[in-house]
Amino acid sequence: MKKILITRKLIKESEDKAAKTFDPIFNSNDELYSQPKVIEMSKGCDGILSSLTDKMDQETINQLPDTIKIISNFAVGFGNIDLDAAKKRGITVTNTPEVLSDATAEIGILLILGACRRAAEGIESAKVGGWKWSADYLIGKQLTGTRLGILGMGRIGQKIAKIARSLGMIIHYHNRSKLSEDKELGAVYHKDIKSLFSVSDVLSICCPATKETENMINKETVEFFPKGAIITNVARGDIIDDEALIDALNRRKIYAVGLDVYKNEPNLNPGYLQIKSAFILPHLGSATKDTRIAMANLAIDNIDDFFKTGNCKNKVN
Ligand code: NAP
Repeated sequence: MKKILITRKLIKESEDKAAKTFDPIFNSNDELYSQPKVIEMSKGCDGILSSLTDKMDQETINQLPDTIKIISNFAVGFGNIDLDAAKKRGITVTNTPEVLSDATAEIGILLILGACRRAAEGIESAKVGGWKWSADYLIGKQLTGTRLGILGMGRIGQKIAKIARSLGMIIHYHNRSKLSEDKELGAVYHKDIKSLFSVSDVLSICCPATKETENMINKETVEFFPKGAIITNVARGDIIDDEALIDALNRRKIYAVGLDVYKNEPNLNPGYLQIKSAFILPHLGSATKDTRIAMANLAIDNIDDFFKTGNCKNKVN
């Protein structure tokens, strides 16, 4: 049986499956391992089932034992892993696409609704009490007829588009490549971000964090939006330059923000705490029991397939 280091505690059903499939090392206290600890614990192992909280950078990967042949990431995003460094060492890297798209799209829609309809202020007022209904109390932005820009119209972006369309939003998007008409379903393609942002009353960020997308929302690009636009991010914190966005929020260039992810998680840039309209969640995208089990099953199957066949369908490097 292959020996696998599983860096974070999984849901019981998933650990049971792992125990039937491999000789696993579990993290029963769900301790956040340092990089040296991952290196140390992976001695004698054939593979690692990692999570997005493990920073598998070049330095870490170069020090992994030669026995490690696969890093199976328990996430669809793999910005935490240096793919080239892994490839150079002959280590296969895999992810868990598709199975988390529905759950993450739900949170993407929650961010849009929460930011547009001033949920953060509403929840706070309801808790404090003493609020007074009036015709203009906590007036928000209605989604019906509003233009939604999707940056990254992939698996999650397309699901968000489908739900948003049913709410009466008009969909625009930007990818590096235009989708076929059957996937666009009437969404308007923009070949660059300036063009997309200029028509986005609301933006939903759904692209991966890469060198190309890092700080795509910045001092310059924030000016491309219509005044009073709303920016939401269900993808990765690295895509937003927080200082530039906070400044735009303070100037009311951007009216509200909805974030499930942010730089330096779990420590939110304190500038957001001063923004009443900021609707912020602690990285809940895939957090449903069914989805977490499906992700872990896929991460386990990726390792199993790899050792049985020498290949697996979710290889990303
Ligand atoms: P996906 O199917 O690969 O979609 C990514 C989309 O982004 C593609 O349409 C791609 O189109 C576009 N894209 C990639 N690079 C781009 C660039 N430089 N400029 C513009 N568009 C670009 O991925 P997915 O499954 O939808 O997941 C998307 C991301 O969501 C993941 O990478 C992950 O970081 C994040 N996520 C977050 C959570 C959460 O808990 N909040 C959960 C799951 C996923 P082109 O290749 O044509 O450019």
